[in-house]
Amino acid sequence: MDDIATLEQQLVDRNVQPSDPSDVENALRPRLMGEFVGQGKVVENLKLFIEAAKARGEAMDHILFSGMPGLGKTTLAHLVAEEMGVPMHACSAPALEKAGDLVGVLTRLEPGSVLFIDEIHRLPRVAEEFLYSAMEDFYLDVVLEPGVQSRSMRLSLPRFTLVGATTREGLLTAPFRARFGVLERLDPYPDHELAEIVRRSAIKLDVEIDHAGAALVAERSRGTPRIANRILRRLRDVAQVRGDGTITRAVAEQGLGMLGIDGNGLTELDRRILKCIADHGAGPLGLKTIAVAVGEEEDTIEDAYEPHLIRQGLLKKTPRGRMITARGLEAI
Ligand code: ADP
Repeated sequence: MDDIATLEQQLVDRNVQPSDPSDVENALRPRLMGEFVGQGKVVENLKLFIEAAKARGEAMDHILFSGMPGLGKTTLAHLVAEEMGVPMHACSAPALEKAGDLVGVLTRLEPGSVLFIDEIHRLPRVAEEFLYSAMEDFYLDVVLEPGVQSRSMRLSLPRFTLVGATTREGLLTAPFRARFGVLERLDPYPDHELAEIVRRSAIKLDVEIDHAGAALVAERSRGTPRIANRILRRLRDVAQVRGDGTITRAVAEQGLGMLGIDGNGLTELDRRILKCIADHGAGPLGLKTIAVAVGEEEDTIEDAYEPHLIRQGLLKKTPRGRMITARGLEAI
């Protein structure tokens, strides 16, 4: 019993954080599946799986969401919990450094609840292996006294749903990936869906935006709701200070210019990435060199910047490094 008490004490669940509604991002998050714009196929699949799980009275199968940052993976995890009528706990994979961190999180889950792990491709290997038995058979073997005379204890866990989010599905090991029953990929949003998201966010932020203003924000948001919402918040300031409070196309143009977002939706950093390659004979140039030159992390460049540049045909990835295209040269 003492062992368990000591273990309990060690299991500091500093990683489980209930969502903070004061945060602006959370405030703009759709609260109901019906408010989630776009990703039709993903939403349709989820609704069906949720309905089936509810009808059977079971926890939902484990889900893996992949896609660029800001496309709605966290939001969908919240919505799955909401639709299932269960609590959700969120943590970020890199924070689960020691096996004990994960044990703490898992042993505190309520039956049926959703455990959301963001950036799951960055989960330390020990934690990943711990999760195997937890995900498959809902138990954990915890080593109490490591060493020659090691003793372990089997802890049974309530049935729970692991929802993982990743910007790099390819980095997940095959056995880990195989333990998710539902794999859904989120794609960048077409402009008309982004415009709809912008209009809905404007209502929540209590700011007027006209049709042309919303269309322009959508065009410049590189298919990403988080970026669209971020631009909208800044434009609200511009409209208040420089206009009559309404975000018109003219206000949006002015605000986008102030934010350094150009006609291709490129930010200052995108342009620096392109310029760095251009300055090196149009490439090929290694990611490491680019990261040092622009002062940003390699992962961030690869996850958050490059996909848009590649989709726009401004940058090419080759086995020898990144190259700027003729369109890319034109863009800068
Ligand atoms: P991710 O987890 O993929 O990085 P989030 O779920 O945190 O992205 O979404 C970022 C922001 O964009 C949130 O504020 C959320 O409200 C908004 N958002 C994302 N997808 C949608 C959507 N389909 N409809 C409405 N808002 C969305």
